[in-house]
Order: sequence, then C-alpha cells, then structure tokens
Amino acid sequence: MPIEFEAPKPVAQAQFMLKTVGEEMMRPRSRYYDEHEHEIPWDYIEFMHMAMKASGGSSLAPRENGNKGEEKDKRPPIGYQVMATQIEALAYGDLGMYHCLPGGGLGAAAVHAAGSPEQKAKFLDRFHGDKPIFAAMCITEPGAGSDNSAIRTRAMLDEKTNEWVINGEKIFVTGGDKSFSEYQKLGRGFIVVWATIDPTAGRGGMRAFVVEGGTPGVRIVKLEHKLGIRCSDTAAISLVDARVPFENILGSPTVEKSTTGFKGAMATFDATRPLVAASGIGVARAALEFLKEKLAENGVQIRYGLPRQKLTSIERDVIDMEIMLKSGWLMVLKAVWLADNKKPNALESSMSKVRAGDVGPRITQKVVEILGPIGYSREFLAEKWFRDAKITDIYEGTGQINRLVVARQILGYSGSELR
Ligand SMILES: Cc1cc2nc3c(=O)[nH]c(=O)nc-3n(C[C@H](O)[C@H](O)[C@H](O)COP(=O)(O)OP(=O)(O)OC[C@H]3O[C@@H](n4cnc5c(N)ncnc54)[C@H](O)[C@@H]3O)c2cc1C
Repeated sequence: MPIEFEAPKPVAQAQFMLKTVGEEMMRPRSRYYDEHEHEIPWDYIEFMHMAMKASGGSSLAPRENGNKGEEKDKRPPIGYQVMATQIEALAYGDLGMYHCLPGGGLGAAAVHAAGSPEQKAKFLDRFHGDKPIFAAMCITEPGAGSDNSAIRTRAMLDEKTNEWVINGEKIFVTGGDKSFSEYQKLGRGFIVVWATIDPTAGRGGMRAFVVEGGTPGVRIVKLEHKLGIRCSDTAAISLVDARVPFENILGSPTVEKSTTGFKGAMATFDATRPLVAASGIGVARAALEFLKEKLAENGVQIRYGLPRQKLTSIERDVIDMEIMLKSGWLMVLKAVWLADNKKPNALESSMSKVRAGDVGPRITQKVVEILGPIGYSREFLAEKWFRDAKITDIYEGTGQINRLVVARQILGYSGSELR
C-alpha cells in the first residue's frame, strides 16, 4: 500500500478552521487569562461549542470516523488523527485555552477506552448535544503519581442499594472544576475516578468509575496556582462516601487474578499520550513561527539550500528546531494511525509523548533565548509558551516514566522487571 502524506479532508478542514480560531479567538485573550488565573473564559467556551457544532465537530470527544455529519464509509477510521490535528492547532492558539474547550477530555477518553458499548452511549453522547460539557480523569493522589498502581481511593459495593461508595483524595485533576462543579452553567459533566475495589489485589483491583457532576460527597477542595497553562483549572478533589450507581464502573466489577483493571488505565494512556504530544508540538510550532516572523522582520532569512557549514548559527538553530518539530509530529501521526486502526500502540504512544515532551520545552526555550529581551518580555507570548510547554513533559506520564515504558516495550520487560 503506498504511503499517503496528504491530509484527509476532515483533517485539512480541522486545520484550516482552527488556525483561524487560534489566531482570532485565542491569541488576543492569551495574556488576559494567563494573568487572571482561574477565571473561566465563558464567551470563548460557548462560542467554540457552537462553532464546532455548526461545523459538524461539536466536541473533542472521540468519534470512530472523523466528525459528525460525515457518512460512515469504507475509509479507514481517522477519529484520533482528526483529534490530534485539532489539538495541535488549538495548542498553537493557546495551550491553556485549549484545555478550556468543551468536550470529553481525558474523562471521555477513559470511557472510550475502557467502557462497554452501553456506557459509551450513556456517557459520551452528551458531548455532541446543545450545551458545552466537560469531563476529567482523576488518577493522581498525594501518594500515587508516577506509580499510579499505588492509589488508595477505595470503592466498596453497598449491596443493599447496589451502589459503589467511594472514599479518597485526588489531586491535579485537569478541568476537574469545570467537569464537576460548573455544570449549573454547562451541561452535566463527569469525572472518572480511579479507585481500588480490593486493596489486596494490587493492580488487579483497580477500576475507574464515572462520577456525575454534583454527586453528593464530592468536593473541589483546591485549585492549583501554576507555572503555565494558567487558564486551565487543575483541581484537588475529595470524595467522602460518594455514591455512584453500580453500572458506572468501567470494566468488570469482580476481581480476577489479573491486571485487567490496571490495563484499562494503560489503554486510556495509549490513546491519550499522542494527543498530549500533539499539544506539545502545537505550542512549539507557535514559538518557532513567531521567531521566524521576528527574524524575517529584521531581514534574517533562512537559507535552506546551503551546506551546514555555510549557515549562520541562528539558521542552524532554526533548521534543527524544524527537524525536531516535524519528526515529533510524524511520531504523533504514527501513534494515532495505530490507535485509529485498533492496533497496539503502547510503544509509539509513549515515544511520541517522550519526543514532544522534549521538543516543546527545548524549542520554546531556544526561541526565548534567540529573541533575547523580546523573548523574555511579557509584551509578547514567547515567554508564556516557554512556561506552558513544560507541562507536556509532566502529565500523562513524565518523560522518565514514558522512557521506561518505551524501554520495557523494546526489551520485552514487564513493569516489575524494569522500573
Ligand atoms: C498541570 C497538571 C495537570 C495534571 N492533570 C492530571 C489529570 O487530569 N489527571 C490526573 O490523574 N493527573 C494529572 N496530573 C498529575 C500528573 O500526571 C502527575 O503529576 C505525574 O504523573 C507525576 O506524578 P507525581 O506528581 O506524583 O510525581 P512523582 O511520581 O513523585 O515524580 C517526581 C519525579 O520523579 C520521577 N520519577 C518517578 N518515578 C520514577 C522512576 N521509576 N524512574 C525515573 N524517574 C522517576 C518523575 O519522572 C518526576 O520527574 C496533572 C499534573 C499537572 C502538573
């Protein structure tokens, strides 16, 4: 089969539409929301929801074959490819504001990866409705970050009421507040809470539960103040005797002597890591394009055809950054192509995340360095992109953890053999 590099129509449409959104809707508001942390950009959220609906997209929740409105046809599925393209373009606009875009986020991704067909219909259809809705994923706890198999949040079945009773503490939940407490202004969102149904079963006891917005016993206890992506709410959430219906468990309610539950979490990451990588590429592209624009204004053109030794140091730096950016994007494309075609992608997914987690901070830092005072000044966005980009190396598995995943995949080691 020949290799096709031309973007499929829905991908090209997404790129075109979101470039305008990035430049017209996001960039003019970037600085304001960076400086007014925790203020929610309602006008942008509502506009974006309507705009995406009008264009047939309606949300960033995954679809099997591109966006709504397209006929299901015999083409290979490209849902994740479309999403990666959208996310890259939105992060090019503003990474923090991208996180404020309605849609399922990591919460919907978890349902998509680990839910039954009935659960997908019940929990995911809402994202394509009239109201903007958010969902978030809560794995991290004070004692369980990189090693998320150490989670202590406990879910116990109350057999009298047939409900799960959840107790625990979750931290660093992206979009947690918009998903859980802001549903009065939005449609009802949810958080996906990872808990253990049997602490003696280790990873085999881990399950995810869909907890609807406003569930009694669940409370947002803190919103983080952050280095970057300050427009995105990052919440700490406490759950005290929070009750959720039996059928909100994603995966089997019984503990087998296996790690099926844990694999559900990992399957989510296989789907979402390339999307995080795409966002890192988007911020880096914003910074690199800004640099080239400023260089051009000052009469510096990149002389692509010359041998390396004849280039100036700045030209070499720019070309090196372009190589990093394009190679990073190709790794994202490979990982999402595998996801779309339902092929295993744990290796490629983590590789793309490692690469983008490096490329984003390196490019944005270099851009600030080359631009000097213009790069460091708050008059322009380069310094903000530098602060924003670092997060792509931290959430969804740090660079170190994703390197471990890559090494295990290549060498054939299990998690306990190589950690
Ligand atoms: C802005 C933001 C948003 C987030 N959003 C979410 C979210 O929506 N949902 C969610 O569940 N979590 C979220 N997180 C949490 C994030 O996934 C964790 O911070 C991350 O997994 C690291 O866990 P930790 O903070 O406990 O750090 P630790 O695990 O304590 O790691 C600290 C350092 O040690 C390194 N390290 C740890 N173990 C190893 C090892 N075995 N080998 C080598 N190095 C190692 C790490 O790479 C890191 O550099 C978010 C975090 C941030 C900052």
